[in-house]
Amino acid sequence: MGKIKKIGVLTSGGDAPGMNAAIRAVVRTAVYNGIEVVGIVQGYKGLINAEFRPFSSSSVSDIIQKGGTILKTARCEEFKSPEGRKKAYDNLKEAQIDGVVVIGGDGSFTGARIFNEEYDIPFVGIPGTIDNDIYGTDYTIGYDTALNTVVEAVDKIRDTASAHNRMFFVEVMGAEAGFIALYSGIATGAEAIFIPETKGEARDLKKMIETGNRRKKSSNIIIVAEGDEEGGAFAIAEKMKDDFKDFDVRVSVLGHLQRGGSPSAIDRVNASRLGHAAVEALLDDQKSVMVGMLNGEITLVPFRKAVKLHKDVNRSLVELAEILSA
Ligand code: ADP
Repeated sequence: MGKIKKIGVLTSGGDAPGMNAAIRAVVRTAVYNGIEVVGIVQGYKGLINAEFRPFSSSSVSDIIQKGGTILKTARCEEFKSPEGRKKAYDNLKEAQIDGVVVIGGDGSFTGARIFNEEYDIPFVGIPGTIDNDIYGTDYTIGYDTALNTVVEAVDKIRDTASAHNRMFFVEVMGAEAGFIALYSGIATGAEAIFIPETKGEARDLKKMIETGNRRKKSSNIIIVAEGDEEGGAFAIAEKMKDDFKDFDVRVSVLGHLQRGGSPSAIDRVNASRLGHAAVEALLDDQKSVMVGMLNGEITLVPFRKAVKLHKDVNRSLVELAEILSA
């Protein structure tokens, strides 16, 4: 038997639908390989407070279809300090945990990378964020579900917008990344899409809308990523009101409903693959790496790269959105 006999799994940072499917895959893969597994409650906080729960295969029964995370997640300032990480290390040693799977985003991977520079207990990451903004992977857990939630909501808004000649500014999540906005905008035929990635590039919303209006469109949907430089959907709507007097201008902020819900089939399958791959990576003596997916295949990406490099949206999709919305 190899040197890994017991592993821990935690979810950290923002929650995302599909995290439970990943936890389940980690636990079942560990059990399959004869490794003990413990659930660490509330992310890095649980490491520092030694909130460890022994898990068996049945601990993760009936969770693959559930949103949120059974392990709960948290932000933890203490883990940012050397003292906090020392406590985490001591607790892991005491519990004889030989490796940790961290399901989270950029921040969580930064913490894991620093910990692995200081201590010899390997951490392997699984990208879990609805924003899809992690370098080195096409896919992050929760993005597909969030996208589908947004599309369903915008379709409903479109129905009422058409009935009343309304112009809707719909704000979606993505403080620093426009993946949800861009993809949902294309999927719902939005008249315009505002994303942080096109920051500073000239955007004449008036012109965009007027192009559409030449065909006497009865509704206009403008998707705005919450991080947009113009200041979010309310600010943009306020600026536009006077330019579009024929329209009844409304704003809808979708908010946290985008984080919830039962994970899509894609999220369940990919989270299962990544959970399995993370345990395999630990067994292969990997540390300080994220398991990701590129072109449908599992890849290993050093935390250093995953957190440092920026993943851009596909610019050809920005152009596509403009062509198709005219
Ligand atoms: P996400 O993982 O979704 O990006 P956060 O940015 O909130 O979420 O990070 C989650 C947690 O990761 C933080 O609460 C903290 O415990 C840890 N973390 C983030 N940045 C650092 C850092 N520079 N050093 C150590 N730990 C960090």
